[in-house]
Amino acid sequence: MKNLWSDADSTLFDGDLALRVYTSRLLGKDPTLVLHGGGNTSVKITESNIVGNQEEILYVKGSGWDLEFIEKAGFSPVRMNHMLSLAKLDTLSDPQMVNELKTQLTNATSPTPSVETILHAILPFKYVDHTHSDAVVTVTNTLEGEDRIREIYGERVVIIPYVMPGFDLAKDVARIFSEQSTDKTEGMVLMNHGIFSFGDSAKESYDRMISLVNEAENYLINKNAWDIEKPEANFEQKNISNQVAELRQKISLTIGKPVLMHLTNSLLGFNFCNKADVKRIASKGPLTPDHVIRTKRIPMIGRDINKYNEEYASYFNKNEINSKARKTMLDPAPRVILDKEFGLCAVGKNMSEIGIISDIYEHTMESILRAEKLGGFEALPAKDIFDLEYWDLEQAKLLKNKSSLAFARYRNRRFRISLFKIIKSMAKPAILTKIILIEIAREPSPVRLVRITRARTAVIS
Ligand code: ZN
Repeated sequence: MKNLWSDADSTLFDGDLALRVYTSRLLGKDPTLVLHGGGNTSVKITESNIVGNQEEILYVKGSGWDLEFIEKAGFSPVRMNHMLSLAKLDTLSDPQMVNELKTQLTNATSPTPSVETILHAILPFKYVDHTHSDAVVTVTNTLEGEDRIREIYGERVVIIPYVMPGFDLAKDVARIFSEQSTDKTEGMVLMNHGIFSFGDSAKESYDRMISLVNEAENYLINKNAWDIEKPEANFEQKNISNQVAELRQKISLTIGKPVLMHLTNSLLGFNFCNKADVKRIASKGPLTPDHVIRTKRIPMIGRDINKYNEEYASYFNKNEINSKARKTMLDPAPRVILDKEFGLCAVGKNMSEIGIISDIYEHTMESILRAEKLGGFEALPAKDIFDLEYWDLEQAKLLKNKSSLAFARYRNRRFRISLFKIIKSMAKPAILTKIILIEIAREPSPVRLVRITRARTAVIS
């Protein structure tokens, strides 16, 4: 992994917060560190408030921001003193925590601070960086993951067993960090979750992140677990358009609204789907629990949608019974499909969601294959994944994007009938479906969509 720090570029960022922006973007640029809004960073700055008192403020990534494109406005300023007092409480419910984070902002227009804010506050360093590095998570997600992490880093990292993000994790970190940290501590590994680095300057914290992750990558290389089989380039293309359309329709019916199904045509995906042990290695669980809100706990292997739905319902019933509050089951349909002929497919309400799901699963396949070469991939028990999938704070992230439902404006019955008639009358429905999907991603009005579709039909039939 390359260290992207540039002295020349860094001079364009003046001040502690500006440098926080700079190195956060460097982290965000590398998809093997963070993907689509994952990870978070912070800096502690002492400032004068409106009545002239000095206050220590924690600038922490706000929710809804992507590290790659973050600006100063993407960091939420919260009062450090109050965060440290909160960390001393025995319990704090999620709604209470969110309320405290929001009411301790010094700028009312800032985004909601990350759910990991209290954790950032208690780490006694000016700059704190947190990523979900593929290499680190690959090592933690193996049978003897914790021993391997210790073997790589020795006493230079504090190791935190898996706990769901939020107040409980902050409490565990406060306790374990004070027991394990020494003056040699450069970072902290959260089992099945990711890695933290810290430092007195933006550069020090960033440099440490890159070198810690490089050590994990080198470990995988030395254990012969880095190179995975080269995907075969020529998978036979069969005429599968009708089968794809049929499966997409079944999934839409299960979800209760129209969705897109995208064949990624990933070579790694074809290779993975055609492995003899695909069911065993792909059915253990996600790489990190937060992926569950995008990918569901496990992919559908093959096309038996009824069986997948039944298994999802049974996973829900088994785990819901033990949760503190009653939950309503989400739709039981898969978001990732691994099929010998279709390859890796992603299911989503629009192309942006499909892009996120495909990216996450590309990284997941690589990590699983590497972890398999390192003694075997292991994921967290279904119970932990369920807790995150049905955690109100995670669900809130999805609801934020509600307005971007690709088909929301195409619900009109008459419109659907006319589109259906056009597709039915076509000689080449697969080509037309592709055209419609591309057009829908551009979100034209239903009337315009039918007009475009009719025009294209005339050209290609
Ligand atoms: Zn995290």
